[in-house]
Amino acid sequence: MKRVYNFSAGPSILPQAVLEKAAAEMLDYQGSGQSVMEMSHRSKEFDAIIKSAESLLREVMNIPDNYKVLFLQGGASSQFSMIPMNLMTKNGKADFVITGQWATKAHKEAARYGEANVVASSKDKTFSYIPELDPATFSKDADYFHICMNNTIYGTKYHTLPETGSVPLVADISSCILSEPIDVSKFGLLYAGAQKNIGPAGLTVVIVREDLLGEPMEKTPTMFDYRIHAENASLYNTPPCYAIYICKLVLEWIKNDIGGLEKMKELNEKKAGILYDFLDNSKLFQGTVVAKDRSLMNVPFVTGNEELDAKFVKEATARDLVNLKGHRSVGGMRASIYNAMPIEGVEKLVAFMAEFEKNNQ
Ligand SMILES: *Cc1c(COP(=O)(O)O)cnc(C)c1O
Repeated sequence: MKRVYNFSAGPSILPQAVLEKAAAEMLDYQGSGQSVMEMSHRSKEFDAIIKSAESLLREVMNIPDNYKVLFLQGGASSQFSMIPMNLMTKNGKADFVITGQWATKAHKEAARYGEANVVASSKDKTFSYIPELDPATFSKDADYFHICMNNTIYGTKYHTLPETGSVPLVADISSCILSEPIDVSKFGLLYAGAQKNIGPAGLTVVIVREDLLGEPMEKTPTMFDYRIHAENASLYNTPPCYAIYICKLVLEWIKNDIGGLEKMKELNEKKAGILYDFLDNSKLFQGTVVAKDRSLMNVPFVTGNEELDAKFVKEATARDLVNLKGHRSVGGMRASIYNAMPIEGVEKLVAFMAEFEKNNQ
């Protein structure tokens, strides 16, 4: 059997211990004689799985009791419309910071449902930084304020949160959820597609403050009404059962094998530090992001020469360092070093970068 170091931005690497556990339980989940993929979502076995996934998420993320945890489908992209349909209902207005492609899509979708203001953007420099925010420019009567916390494509991250006062802060945390502790009480709503740091694609996690679950817009599809999913404990219809099961295993891994989110953060800082240190000292490779806004999860870099970039990606692949090609809008390379990427993966990548630099002067 061969396992590569997978630097894909998503779907992405999962902890090997989780995959092994899932493999061992594939044919007979805990004496049930069935795979989790085959069992009823109303069975007592699955009921225990979804309840345990929720309680582990609450424990690991320290989610206050006045927040609902929802396990939905449709990806983070469905949240781009589900959020305005449910939250843009008092004054029909929300503020957005445009820090990349996902933030742009969230804004564009919300603009179909109400007044979607752009308070700042970093488009002028290919989203290579997080713009300075002046609270005086925020809409006082906005129903919410939306940010994309970690910009997967561009490799930037908010290291301080906007001061939105009583306006609920809503954040897309698809590519940074579970990478470090987060103070959930500072947010009205958090959402994440699972396929970066939680599990396989198909599951979307939403964490929403209860008092925001008011009346959604008229004609909101039942499946897009948060209240329906909250009232039915995410079992209104068939949930993404197997993805929820893997999510539970990943949370057990973070809690028991890693030791929680403080420890996870230390590991992630160490891994990202190795790569950023190398980039800061390299004569061939450059990081593309302003140093103070760097992401711990997604690290884009370039040589400045497209042919050399392509050669690097090809040679890296031959060494089982795969999926390093950058997003087409940035070019070059991108190493996504999510929770499950072992430190050896980053060390191998950096050793290869050093060798490539020496051979291509
Ligand atoms: C991947 C990603 C998305 C899109 O998620 P889907 O589940 O494919 O809809 C949205 N936002 C961020 C920050 C992402 O990384």
